[in-house]
Amino acid sequence: MSDTPRAVTVLSGAGLSAASGVPTFRDADGLWEGHKVQDVATPEAWLRDAELVRTFYDERRIACAKVVPNPGHTALAELQRAWGSDRVVLVTQNIDGLLQAGGCSNVIEMHGSLFRLRCEHDETHPHVAVKGAQSRTATCRVCGGRLRPAVVWFGEIPNHMERIQEATWSCDTFISVGTSGVVYPAAGLSQIAKAGGATTIEVNPNPVGGGFDYVLNQGSEVALPKLIATWLDA
Ligand SMILES: [Zn+2]
Repeated sequence: MSDTPRAVTVLSGAGLSAASGVPTFRDADGLWEGHKVQDVATPEAWLRDAELVRTFYDERRIACAKVVPNPGHTALAELQRAWGSDRVVLVTQNIDGLLQAGGCSNVIEMHGSLFRLRCEHDETHPHVAVKGAQSRTATCRVCGGRLRPAVVWFGEIPNHMERIQEATWSCDTFISVGTSGVVYPAAGLSQIAKAGGATTIEVNPNPVGGGFDYVLNQGSEVALPKLIATWLDA
């Protein structure tokens, strides 16, 4: 498909974790316990009913702790181990921690993580690791604010965007995995990658088209191990 890359940036979304069986927390009506997910994943929801928001994220965290990485995650880990994290930049929209569980040591989590809490007032205050249900009484040790899930909610700005754009601009191979190639941010980042002269690859069993140079029309648990093996064996 292409020569062995000099620098790879990988943007992953929900499709990367699909084969691991991460629950979506939406029933047939698209609701969680009768609430729209958008209604429990916003700053307004936190101010209105923090306990509901904590419960929603507690359930997701507990469920995600039970699922295991799939061969897509472990192939990316193998590539990053072999080539180093300067050459293989892993950016994910996922908050499930499965790339790290699969052995990736350096992951840019643009939407944060289920497994950290942060101050409700200031995200630069120290984050706190969390497993299982979060404490209802622990507070920020700098300002005493309540601790909220360190995830990016609807209406908030994704993390590390400058670093992500830089890594996308400067790579020579950009891969979008399991995220819609025509919707922000994958669409915007693939445009940046193209403008920077990179080869662009979409891995998606149901690609919708977005001007990528190559489309691997399979689940990432199948496509990524094959692609990465060709590079590592080269
Ligand atoms: Zn604080």
